[in-house]
Amino acid sequence: MEFLQPSTWAEALAMKAARPETMPIHGGTDVMVELNLDRHRPAAILDLTRVPELKDWGPEEGLLRVGAGVTYTRLIDELGQRLPGLAMASRTVGSPQIRNRGTVGGNLGSASPAGDAHPPLLASGAVVELASASGVRRMPAREFYVGPKRSAARKDELIAAFLVAPADGPQQFSKVGTRNAMVIAVCSFALALHPDGRHVGTGIGSAGPTPLRAEEAEGFIAGELDWEGRRPPTAATLRRFGELAAAAAKPIDDIRGTSDYRRHALAVLARRSLAWAWSEYANRAAS
Ligand SMILES: Cc1cc2nc3c(=O)[nH]c(=O)nc-3n(C[C@H](O)[C@H](O)[C@H](O)COP(=O)(O)OP(=O)(O)OC[C@H]3O[C@@H](n4cnc5c(N)ncnc54)[C@H](O)[C@@H]3O)c2cc1C
Repeated sequence: MEFLQPSTWAEALAMKAARPETMPIHGGTDVMVELNLDRHRPAAILDLTRVPELKDWGPEEGLLRVGAGVTYTRLIDELGQRLPGLAMASRTVGSPQIRNRGTVGGNLGSASPAGDAHPPLLASGAVVELASASGVRRMPAREFYVGPKRSAARKDELIAAFLVAPADGPQQFSKVGTRNAMVIAVCSFALALHPDGRHVGTGIGSAGPTPLRAEEAEGFIAGELDWEGRRPPTAATLRRFGELAAAAAKPIDDIRGTSDYRRHALAVLARRSLAWAWSEYANRAAS
């Protein structure tokens, strides 16, 4: 197996263009499992860990542009205040060792429906930046996921970064697993309140062929919430929101859970996430 090790972004893109079948590796927390289990035997590996551009994050036209090589640990430490939903999700990823190595770029690269970064990226309307030797393109995260472990990235492209607005309201992420830590989600749910736009963003994980948004639930709740007076939503409104979120899922029965259980759990997660986020929103006004 050939091992390619670019030290600049331009070099990495040139190597990928010359050999599109090359498998990128960053933290290696997915790639090494695949190699060790002999699921893949790529002819060449493209190690991106020496590309400094991938480790940068900073503001760009009112958004945050976060390099694909920023680890979960750094996201929590450096961006936790600005991206609270993604930071909550990052805290649930694996163990400290996995969070020190693993990156959102790698989560996007694997495009697993169970990846924990996806629901908060969907809920906050994130955009994925893809680059190749022939140019850069950006697409909303909701268009990036096209099938189970398949993304819209072309073979000659690398994931450069994601772009997302800093939180303009409370955000939540919750995950159901078969134990408390080091666990692949049975299902997960992310929610972002956007008081500026009077809108609620959602993201569903591990309950469909791709990460999903609960669009009908978003449409329903935006009109129900008392954005000005900040009165709490009624129990019936919360329940309906949960039902619509669960209805947006396309779960299967598998070793981690049944489709019925996933739908039930999602309704509960959605209802609770909204109640927690709304109570934070109401308390902010009071303090
Ligand atoms: C013990 C253990 C526990 C885990 N727990 C969780 C968990 O709780 N939640 C969770 O979501 N995941 C979990 N994972 C999976 C993994 O840690 C995450 O998916 C992580 O985000 C992968 O990031 P990475 O940098 O290690 O990716 P890598 O393994 O380096 O790469 C992953 C994929 O992305 C591609 N890739 C990497 N960088 C780029 C790039 N810049 N451009 C294009 N393609 C790229 C690779 O080719 C590969 O297909 C766990 C893994 C292990 C081993």
